[in-house]
Amino acid sequence: MLMEMKDFYDYAREISKLRSAMSLIAWDMRTKIPPKGVKDRSEVVGKLSRMAFEMATSPKAAEFVEYFNRPKIHDSLNEVDRRNVDLMTKYYRRQKSIPADKIEKFSILCSKGESIWQEARRESNFAKFQPILEEIVEYLKEFAELYGYEENRYDALLDEYEPSTTTKDVKNVIDGLKKDLVPFMQKIYKAKAPDDRILNGNFDKSSQEKLSVEVLKAMTYDFEGGRLDETAHPFTIGIGPGDVRITTKYDPRDLRPSFFGTMHEGGHALYEQGIAEEHQGTMVGMGASMGIHESQSRTWENMIGRSRAFWNFFYPTLVKIFPQYKDVSVEDFYKAINVVKPSLIRIEADEVTYNLHIVIRFEVEEALINDRVKVADLPELWNSKVKEYLGIEPSNDAEGVLQDVHWSGGQMGYFPSYMLGNIYAAQFFATAKKEIPNLEALISSGDLKTFREWQREKIHRHGALYDPKDLVMKVTGQPLTHKYFMDYITEKFSEIYGI
Ligand code: ZN
Repeated sequence: MLMEMKDFYDYAREISKLRSAMSLIAWDMRTKIPPKGVKDRSEVVGKLSRMAFEMATSPKAAEFVEYFNRPKIHDSLNEVDRRNVDLMTKYYRRQKSIPADKIEKFSILCSKGESIWQEARRESNFAKFQPILEEIVEYLKEFAELYGYEENRYDALLDEYEPSTTTKDVKNVIDGLKKDLVPFMQKIYKAKAPDDRILNGNFDKSSQEKLSVEVLKAMTYDFEGGRLDETAHPFTIGIGPGDVRITTKYDPRDLRPSFFGTMHEGGHALYEQGIAEEHQGTMVGMGASMGIHESQSRTWENMIGRSRAFWNFFYPTLVKIFPQYKDVSVEDFYKAINVVKPSLIRIEADEVTYNLHIVIRFEVEEALINDRVKVADLPELWNSKVKEYLGIEPSNDAEGVLQDVHWSGGQMGYFPSYMLGNIYAAQFFATAKKEIPNLEALISSGDLKTFREWQREKIHRHGALYDPKDLVMKVTGQPLTHKYFMDYITEKFSEIYGI
């Protein structure tokens, strides 16, 4: 029997249409849905996701996978077609490696896990969360065995979020950070911190929203192909071609969560908006990995959003919307938004300490999955690591081991992507600076488009055409190293802290 790539793509696009419907519902459920609608809508999502799963693992999908992987046929495909086949094959095999009833039981367990975790966190009571977390970890270990791996059981979990990246790769980066970042951070702690009290105040919501819209426009986010809304836990979601939405949240006493959160989500959105049209609706039509996605958001949030060059141009816009800043110099403002303070809470961490929060999580997860520690030992292990790396101690589990939602939803292997995102971001940005020699001057003058075009050309348009490792090599000409991140951090914060 002869099969055509056209049929393969038609099939992939059918699945993608179901995903698009699920994304729209997901957006609605996190922004606008009235409480009474939640129950029924969850059932709609369940139905759609079963349909998508069935299509991706159907006999038809099996035929495509078998046919296009025949060596002669596979070799004759062009780069994009071959990549689409490889991605579908990988997804198909991963889904098929686990019995369907196990997947279903696991997803029920995880939705229960999330509500138990919420209670446990509210009461700061790890014992309440422990039994279900033990069950989740058992499932994950079993899944890892079924997926298969070469060296480390944790590799099998990591692969879902950071394809082709191994535990060893992550450890390499971490070793570098421990050696270079930890001592640098201690130097900062000893130095005199800039005054950041100017960041406290009253900031009405509609003005904050105006500011968010202004910065998204400056970033060249396309409002004809997206929108900005409010939510409790901000996210970006690509609903389909021409519809990539951003959400943010407004704190009436602090501009930072909405402003930098919007830039962060805007960075994710530019990635999604920049994927080439030919890839839309195919397996390649998404980000290369969670980490590469995070690198794009981190670049905008930190390397641009917390840079002097950016505020040289954007400060007048801030002052226009919040006149209380008219007597604050841009220099004082720049320093205030770059204060480094060890925090117990990952999502409140600054650029310097953030990665250490990930180091803690990675080390804990990797030990759990490989049976070197027990779930019951987590609070103690967690607290000792926080003390070791950040020099502070949680006073309860809510601000310690219970703070993140990920484990309750069955996501282990995800955290390293946050750290890798920062490391990729610094390496990409260093390359951009080399290739656009006047980049800083352009940013100072308000031209963010030149850099956006660079990102689009080098990274965005390709979608998932390359694995992260290959993409890093292609864009920067060398494998991933923590060196660029350290250079960036050292240069920026030595100057701010005068050390
Ligand atoms: Zn993000």
